[in-house]
Amino acid sequence: MSDKSKLSPETESRLKASFNLEWRKELRARIPVKERLEIGRREMPARGHERVRDFLEVNQGLSVEEAVLEAKRCLDCGRPSCVSGCPVGIDIPGFIKLIEAGEFAASARKLRETNSLPAVCGRVCPQETQCEQVCNVAKTTGVPVAIGNLERFAADLAMRSGTFASLERTAAPTGKKAAVVGAGPAGLTVAGELAKLGHSVTVFEALHQPGGVLVYGIPEFRLPNRILWAECGLLERLGVEFRMNFIVGKTATIEDLRADGYEAFFIGTGAGLPNFMNIPGENLAGIYSANEYLTRVNLLRACEFPVADTPVFRGKRTAVVGGGNVALDSVRTARRLGAEKAMIIYRRSRVEMPARAEEVRHAEEEGVEFHFLTVPIRYIGDSRGRVAAVECQRMELGEPDASGRRKPVPVPGSEFTLEVDVVVVAIGQSPNPLIPQTTSGLKVGRWGNIEVDPETMATSLPGVFAGGDIVRGGATVILAMGDGRRAAAAMDRYLCEKR
Ligand code: FAD
Ligand code: SF4
Repeated sequence: MSDKSKLSPETESRLKASFNLEWRKELRARIPVKERLEIGRREMPARGHERVRDFLEVNQGLSVEEAVLEAKRCLDCGRPSCVSGCPVGIDIPGFIKLIEAGEFAASARKLRETNSLPAVCGRVCPQETQCEQVCNVAKTTGVPVAIGNLERFAADLAMRSGTFASLERTAAPTGKKAAVVGAGPAGLTVAGELAKLGHSVTVFEALHQPGGVLVYGIPEFRLPNRILWAECGLLERLGVEFRMNFIVGKTATIEDLRADGYEAFFIGTGAGLPNFMNIPGENLAGIYSANEYLTRVNLLRACEFPVADTPVFRGKRTAVVGGGNVALDSVRTARRLGAEKAMIIYRRSRVEMPARAEEVRHAEEEGVEFHFLTVPIRYIGDSRGRVAAVECQRMELGEPDASGRRKPVPVPGSEFTLEVDVVVVAIGQSPNPLIPQTTSGLKVGRWGNIEVDPETMATSLPGVFAGGDIVRGGATVILAMGDGRRAAAAMDRYLCEKR
């Protein structure tokens, strides 16, 4: 839905107004462009090799001095191409120039105008294929401004200093009730936006903690849970009610909630249904879906077993099948659970890997072994029914397929075997069918995703909106949040018109 070459008219006029502010003109004049281009990029400080023994965060964040220096690299372009590369149109030069000016709290507030979870996005957004890919500094020097690192800096500092002790309501209470189903980034965004507009919001979440994939999927070493807890605390203080362990479609249906007085609904239930390859031996003990493996470790704290109740197999030789962020998070988790050999099996080459470049680099530093152009064709069990080996086949790249990437083609006679004691399958996820199955009249697409109007996120049912992975399939945090913002605006209009 985002077009990297285009800004919406609203974004364009918002940026124009902020670009012409006197203080920004002054700041631009202080350092000539040539000097700005000579400043080298401040790299994100990261923990050393000892990090593979724990789950603490790897990236350490920029210091104040480094952040201000990095901010000086930004040219505050009249036509900031970075903004058109951002799916939610953040005023990127605006927040960066506030860092350069030392106005850190104002910088974080600027981020919040368009991004409800900047501390999350600063950590997990694929900036290298979005805003940073089209940054004008990269066109001249080859090295973009570190937009993501600066976003994280401003958001973290605001959180640490308590500048965001509250989110503010912008409207009086309306007396209207809205239900948000799913507490992932899409649902949390909708909840915050609607509560600010004075509506009474309840979030219904199937799990015992809010955050969705950000808590049960992405490990602590990339995204500490405390960030989500702080964000949810802000929402609670704004009056949002969280009802946990509540499965919509089982505990109550959308129609039951309507009968309880809810007038507008947002479905943000994600894509949590794991895909499998359906190859022989896939049911052997020791073979997990990435979803189960990561949920056991991140949400149920299997890494602390037996202190925590839930165990997980701690393999010495763990193979993870897939090449996306989910696969990389799984293999790095396996390393931290004690795998001496932690391997990625991926059917294409490194170039086609969809995982973030930083994740791949960190995995390499942590000793992960990559088997590119390789696909599992069967699992072999031991006498106890546990996985002991995986038979693989080599691939070569053929013609581009529908995704535009070159299609992997099996190389005859290239089969070989890898010894393993744990396997994690991370080859994609599908939307959970529960809500479509229990909500009559809700239109779904071929792959089970809910169909919406892309402008308003309205579904085929009156008052029911949807967004995030349940609509897009497995996508990204920022796209889920962008959907949430559009849906919240449309839900507000819907609720107000019903008065
Ligand atoms: P989710 O985050 O999936 O949240 C959905 C919520 O709905 C869940 O809490 C679920 O329990 C709840 N729910 C489901 N069914 C029901 C029901 N019937 N009733 C009540 N509640 C229900 N994206 C990035 O941008 N960068 C990354 O680095 C990145 N890494 C990732 C790593 C992993 C391991 C995974 C799995 C995904 C990653 N993603 C990443 C993708 C990103 O996390 C998702 O696109 C995003 O979380 C989708 O948000 P969402 O709100 O639509 O759904
Ligand atoms: Fe700054 Fe790069 Fe955006 Fe220009 S394109 S405003 S240099 S971040």
